[in-house]
Amino acid sequence: MTTIAAYQGDITRFPADVIVNAANSSLLGGGGVDGAIHRAAGPDLLAACRLLGGADTGEARMTDAFNIRTAQKIVHAVGPVYRNYSPENAAELLASCYRNSLDLAKGYRSIAFPAISTGVYGYPIRDATKVALATITTWLAENPAILDTITLVAFSGTDFDTITDSLRAS
Ligand code: ADP
Repeated sequence: MTTIAAYQGDITRFPADVIVNAANSSLLGGGGVDGAIHRAAGPDLLAACRLLGGADTGEARMTDAFNIRTAQKIVHAVGPVYRNYSPENAAELLASCYRNSLDLAKGYRSIAFPAISTGVYGYPIRDATKVALATITTWLAENPAILDTITLVAFSGTDFDTITDSLRAS
């Protein structure tokens, strides 16, 4: 049985075997949660990411967590820039981020996601949360008893409220 939980705060301090980064396709760092993760993990993360050679929208890659001692691994998922796609295509690409991240976390007990694409990339939080929960639920039906906990991490209080509302309704 896997628990789906919500947490408000900084994902770089959240204890989970795997934390997910909302990366851009260069995988070389950026603003928002990406910047926070690179600052917390230290320069070795950038060196590791350079070796990956980027990733396409919807894809994910895994690295060590370096100086982030609360996690073992970081998954770098490239979310869609919302305005660049139709809502349907954006949803499919966001779902791919969640699915690919969960696939990479097989073998670990817990994973924590930020609200991928909902910052600078402009994906409405309510719609993004629906996609996240639907994708997680489908993945769990296909991959039962692998993970103990999947946590959706909200940075702001309003995002946290949106996520907890969606969790209650699901
Ligand atoms: P994107 O480019 O995918 O939109 P952002 O980093 O701009 O990525 O935003 C994604 C989400 O991550 C937003 O909801 C933002 O508030 C949140 N966020 C920013 N910093 C952190 C952090 N340290 N921990 C968790 N979430 C964060």
